Amino acid sequence: GQCTLVCPVGALIEAPHWHEVLQTLGAHRRVSVVQVAPATRVAISEEFGLTPGTVSTRRLINALRQLGFDYVFDTNFAADLTIMEEGSELLARLEAGTGLPLFTSCCPGWVNWVELNRPDLLPHLSTTKSPQQMHGAIAKRSGFVRSLGADFAEGRAEPYVVSVMPCTAKKDEARRPGQSGDVDHVLTTRELARMIRSRGIPFAALSDDGQFDSPLGESTGAAQIFGASGGVMEAMVRTAAHLKGADHDLPLEWEALRGVGQGIKTATIPGVGTVAVCNGIASAQHMLEGEGWRSAYVAVEVMACVGGCLGGGGEPKSMDPHILRKRAAAIYAVDADAPRRRSYENGDVQALYASELQSPNSPAAHRLLHTCYAPRHSRRLLLMRFLDCVDRRDG
Ligand code: SF4
Repeated sequence: GQCTLVCPVGALIEAPHWHEVLQTLGAHRRVSVVQVAPATRVAISEEFGLTPGTVSTRRLINALRQLGFDYVFDTNFAADLTIMEEGSELLARLEAGTGLPLFTSCCPGWVNWVELNRPDLLPHLSTTKSPQQMHGAIAKRSGFVRSLGADFAEGRAEPYVVSVMPCTAKKDEARRPGQSGDVDHVLTTRELARMIRSRGIPFAALSDDGQFDSPLGESTGAAQIFGASGGVMEAMVRTAAHLKGADHDLPLEWEALRGVGQGIKTATIPGVGTVAVCNGIASAQHMLEGEGWRSAYVAVEVMACVGGCLGGGGEPKSMDPHILRKRAAAIYAVDADAPRRRSYENGDVQALYASELQSPNSPAAHRLLHTCYAPRHSRRLLLMRFLDCVDRRDG
């Protein structure tokens, strides 16, 4: 059941890029950065004979440095940022009473499906970019990264940005009009494993002590659970009360939104409304057959792959019938152990807003972190819509 229905634009045909990435790294023309998705650090362990469910974050950081990346960052930093932007967008829509329910937009398999099959629903999609795209945009074009020193000084060439994702559709996302240029190359978890093997790096024997570079490397437990179905919604719920200015926090853990079984999960969030999670594109299609979803929910998370990104088409293939459960357990364990578990508690995210973006959904945040959609039957239309949207945004 891995990612069979999810890539209507043909991104499922995996175009390997790892040779190109190795060549570019070897040429040393630009400073290179890599970001790693939450689902990758769990599943890559299986490629090297480690027990399914082993969390290999630090080992993976060491392997990426040995491959020659100058900076190793965490996509989870941008997942926390996504929550600040998407959560604020939800609250603004609730206030205005438009564009509800809000559909999450971090899964390109789902975004492509809506553009292709139900363009009438585009106003429901959150305009917030996915964590992959946000991270690339910040690494390349924010003033915030300048604190990393001379490599990122003004006037230097943009860094070469690679992302490692559980997902073949992420390759397509990186080429979307209006977002192309945020990320130069996308590798799947499987491709990265091949790259590591090709260099003879003994992954399983590496010491488990690597550290992400900072800033753009800090994250909370809320970001880590993005890798599992229901994780994006649970992360958003954890931050909703804070964004509303409430002096109390909602509970951290929402069991009703967890689980890898197919279908729709729901929870009613005090002060927000009822939210839903569609686990797999088939359950979203099922939900959209009726009209009840329009009034039943204020927000809907859709991840095209069953289990969420943990079951993504770029993850290692497994014959283990319990593999999704094991990978999910690992992800929730990382969250449970995290010193900070709500996205707004991320110190780097707070510093980014203080120094550059002012507040979520500000004009500066929109320029860097939001995007546009258009019916997929026309790439040209998507491009025109994007140019129009940039025009309006930049006044
Ligand atoms: Fe990619 Fe994750 Fe969406 Fe699957 S659920 S298509 S892995 S983003």
